[in-house]
Amino acid sequence: MNKTALITGASQGIGACIAIRLAKDGFNIAINCRSEIDASGRGLEVKTACEEFGVSAECFIADVSSFEECDMMVKAVKERFGTIDVLVNNAGITKDGLIARMTEEQFDTVTNVNYKSVFNMTRHITPIMMKQRSGRIINVSSVAGLYGNAGQFNYSASKAGMIGMTLSAAKELGSRNITVNAIAPGFIETPMTDVLDEKVKENILSQIALKRFGKTSEIASTVSFLASEDAGYITAQVIVIDGGLSM
Ligand code: NAP
Repeated sequence: MNKTALITGASQGIGACIAIRLAKDGFNIAINCRSEIDASGRGLEVKTACEEFGVSAECFIADVSSFEECDMMVKAVKERFGTIDVLVNNAGITKDGLIARMTEEQFDTVTNVNYKSVFNMTRHITPIMMKQRSGRIINVSSVAGLYGNAGQFNYSASKAGMIGMTLSAAKELGSRNITVNAIAPGFIETPMTDVLDEKVKENILSQIALKRFGKTSEIASTVSFLASEDAGYITAQVIVIDGGLSM
C-alpha cells in the first residue's frame, strides 16, 4: 500500500508491538529509538520482525523530548519513505514519587518525554500530513491521565496533557482529513510495569474486572484499527483499554 507509520519509543514494549502489528497491516515502518545502542540492538530486532511481513522498516534515532532531534528525524523519515501517514506518539517514561518528595527533575523529565514530545512530533509532522491531505495521529495516553494515580503526579499530568492536545489537534486538523485520537491503556505487561512491586501489582489486579493484566497485542490491535481505513470517521476520541480497571 506504500504508506508509512512512525512509532516513537518503538524498541520495546507497547511501541515495538505496535510497529510489528502495523507492519503486518502493510505499513512501512519508521522505528524511533532513543540511542544508537538501542537502534543496533532491540531496534534491529523490531526492524527484522517488521520486514518479515514484506514491508520496509528502518530505525531512526531521536530523543523525543528534543524539538531539534524530532525535526531531524521527521525529515529523515520523509526522505527515506516519501510519506508519513501514521504517527504514533508512544514513547513514555515514569519517575514515580509522592508529591511532597518529588524533585523538579522528576517532574520536568517525565513531562518533557511524555508530553512535550507530542508537541515536538506533531509540530514537525503536521505540515507533511496537511500537504498530503490525510493522516492519522494516535497518542498513547493512560488511564492515569483520566483518573489520576497516587504517586504519579508528573506522569498523570503528562498523560492528561496528551488528551488536551489530542482534542485540539483533532479540531484544528479535521478539515485536512487528519484524524487525531488517544488510547488510554490500563495495566499492560511490559518492561515499564515489570519493575513494580508484587504487592502493587496484586492490588491493581484485584481492581481489574477481567482479572488479568493486558497484553501489548491488545493495545496494538486498537492502534491498528485507528490507523485503518475503517476508522476514517473516528476522531477526537479517547479509547480506554484497561480490562475494566477504571470503573
Ligand atoms: P517501556 O517498555 O518502558 O517502553 C518505552 C519506550 O519508550 C522504550 O522503547 C524507550 O526507549 C522509549 N523512550 C523512553 N524515553 C524516550 C525518549 N526520550 N525518546 C525516545 N524514546 C524514548 O514502556 P511501555 O509500557 O511499552 O509504554 C509505552 C507507552 O505506553 C508509554 O507512553 C506509557 O506511558 C504508555 N502506557 C503504558 C502502560 C503499561 O501498563 N505498560 C499503561 C498505560 C500507558 P529506552 O528503553 O531506550 O528508554
